[in-house]
Amino acid sequence: MPGTKGLTDRLRDGETVLCAEGYLWELERRGFARFGDFTPEAVLDYPERVTALYEEFVLAGSDVVLAYMYYAHRQKMRLIGREEDCKSVNLKSIKMARDVADKYGKLMAGGLSNTTVFEPDDPDIAGKVAEMFKEQVEWAVEGGADYMIGETFHDFQEAKLALEAIKKYGRGMPAVITLVAYTKDFTTDDIPIEEALRRLEELGADVVGLNCGRGPATIMPLLERVRKVCKGPLAAVPVPLRTTEEQKSFQSLLDHVTGKPLYPTNMTTAICHREEIQQFTQDALKLGVQYLGLCCCNSPSLFREMALTCGRDPVLGKFSPDHSKSYLFGKTTKPHREKIRSFMCGDAKHIYISSDS
Ligand SMILES: [Zn+2]
Repeated sequence: MPGTKGLTDRLRDGETVLCAEGYLWELERRGFARFGDFTPEAVLDYPERVTALYEEFVLAGSDVVLAYMYYAHRQKMRLIGREEDCKSVNLKSIKMARDVADKYGKLMAGGLSNTTVFEPDDPDIAGKVAEMFKEQVEWAVEGGADYMIGETFHDFQEAKLALEAIKKYGRGMPAVITLVAYTKDFTTDDIPIEEALRRLEELGADVVGLNCGRGPATIMPLLERVRKVCKGPLAAVPVPLRTTEEQKSFQSLLDHVTGKPLYPTNMTTAICHREEIQQFTQDALKLGVQYLGLCCCNSPSLFREMALTCGRDPVLGKFSPDHSKSYLFGKTTKPHREKIRSFMCGDAKHIYISSDS
């Protein structure tokens, strides 16, 4: 949008850019996407739901409307028998994102993602993947994207193809390229993550970093190592999930009650609480991360925590918790209310009860 400061200008001026992600997971939670193929046909079938989510994340503090093009590439649309909708799903998603971005004076980004068919060192596949990226980049150009995101690449070589497509067909659009780190600190084509990101930076990516895969606790140590080798702006877009040293990726998380895998259908039991998002945001800012977001299992209320921690004043800030107004957890001199509270909370000493209440 004319008059909206561009991504690279913001980063050059030392600003932080917030980009909400996680459309697929939030739409699934609401009943409008399917685990398994993870495809975005809701863009065509329920466009108002997608537009609403674009808008909610903006109101929660996102500087960017990322067009919901995740797994809208030809391979995935073919998988669900809707290859003929491939162009329209991309163009519609981009148009809706552009409209919301313009309404609020935000940036709009087009998106590329892993194709799920890439095989290292298979030139036939590489050619097909490059074709899929080319058409999505061209559609993003047609729809007026401000920059391109290439995300959740676990193979360095596929990320490189995405970057090359953006450079070749993106008419100068900046490129944000993020790799996903799972349980190993290597890409699945066996390159140390920090080295792969260093190479992508060297190849001309404007921002490099990590998205998806890991939660705050397991993405931070790797980010610290990446910071040492990458010189330019760094991106950190974790899943807001409680990954651990033993279960580093959210795909590897086990239910702490049943011991069964949570991914992908039962992740909500492992979502970070707000203070963990605040802490991650502080840690990332301290490390000098300039491009921040949340991926799968993000929600407007969690993203608002990130924005508030960055010192922003999001519209939805007015709905932040205020326990002083609670009839039970605020201050009270009425014994019956204390009794209700004790019945409700039992022995749990609620953190919001003031000591002199
Ligand atoms: Zn994700």
